[in-house]
Amino acid sequence: MTDSIQQHVRRITAGLLVPAALVVAVLLLLHYFLLLPPSPGAEIWLIIGAAAATLIALYLRILRFTDRMSAQMNRMTVAAREISRGDLDRRIDSSEMQFGELRELADAINAMAMRARIDIAEMKRLERVRSEFLGNVSHELRTPIFSVQGYLETLIDGAVEDPEVRDDFLHKTHQNVLRLHTLLTDLIEISRIESGEMKMSFRYFNAVDYFKAITDELQPTAEIAQVTLEFQMIGRKNGNISVLGDRDRLKQAIVNLVENAIKYNHPGGTVTVELEPHENEVIVRVRDTGIGIPTEDLGRIFERFYRVNKDRSRSVGGSGLGLAIVKHIIEAHGTSVKVESILGQGTTFSFTLKR
Ligand code: ADP
Repeated sequence: MTDSIQQHVRRITAGLLVPAALVVAVLLLLHYFLLLPPSPGAEIWLIIGAAAATLIALYLRILRFTDRMSAQMNRMTVAAREISRGDLDRRIDSSEMQFGELRELADAINAMAMRARIDIAEMKRLERVRSEFLGNVSHELRTPIFSVQGYLETLIDGAVEDPEVRDDFLHKTHQNVLRLHTLLTDLIEISRIESGEMKMSFRYFNAVDYFKAITDELQPTAEIAQVTLEFQMIGRKNGNISVLGDRDRLKQAIVNLVENAIKYNHPGGTVTVELEPHENEVIVRVRDTGIGIPTEDLGRIFERFYRVNKDRSRSVGGSGLGLAIVKHIIEAHGTSVKVESILGQGTTFSFTLKR
């Protein structure tokens, strides 16, 4: 254990005063009992001599102590200056500090440098993420805008006279405008979520009716893609299963998951929205028999604008933000989204809701 400065000073003082007092006492005893007859004033000189010797010794020890302390303080000052100049990897070896207070100060400076290093690294990461995001957004916007510009210019230059080309280009322009619309809606959504503007409103509701209704609403989308969309309960056939969640936000997440399950599927494939009630929670699954996701991409699909197959995603109108939005919404429910997939066989997204 390291002494505190106060303990150390006390120890130095006591270490000198106690032996000095003992020596004086012994000398006085010897003087009274052995050196008779007493010489006048000898006791006074003895005490003055002993006090002077003790004071000199005390002074020398305190001098040594302050020298050691200022050497250690100097080391810390040098390190703190280097840290303040930006060398955030600089550390002070607190085991070299001989006094408790200095050791604590060294530890506190080290902790401060470490914290600053972590914060700056995080700031740099966020800055990188932000500029990457801006780059992605500009790229995503540029592609459909250029396409629309190209189609319109060709039409203006005379292609409008050819009904077949006109209809084709108008259709393509419309597709690109829809893509822009989806992208902008998702961008507004994700920036609202990430800036903390999205307020959640949690209520208990009947999961069975709720998931059945969403499945029914998405039937037309599934039919267009020639995919069978079904709702399934595991364990029990019916009843009221009350779950806690924000109905609107949750719907947005489920719709994204089911639309993906339809988009990344084959004609004739199946998408199943499944509920599996347990005592304190309900597992929600969206299963599909679609194209699947390669294992190496599974960890990245929730990143903004990450796509396994860029061409396919764009051709089916994906903004690349759907799963990032799903992740935020589900995490705001205090849980997380899991994904399992077998390439060429299908994918299952799942999460739990509290009962
Ligand atoms: P997108 O708008 O491109 O669909 P998402 O964020 O919704 O963006 O999904 C990210 C990527 O994850 C998609 O581009 C796709 O490659 C992959 N993906 C998502 N859901 C599925 C699924 N059910 N089956 C296969 N791949 C999927």
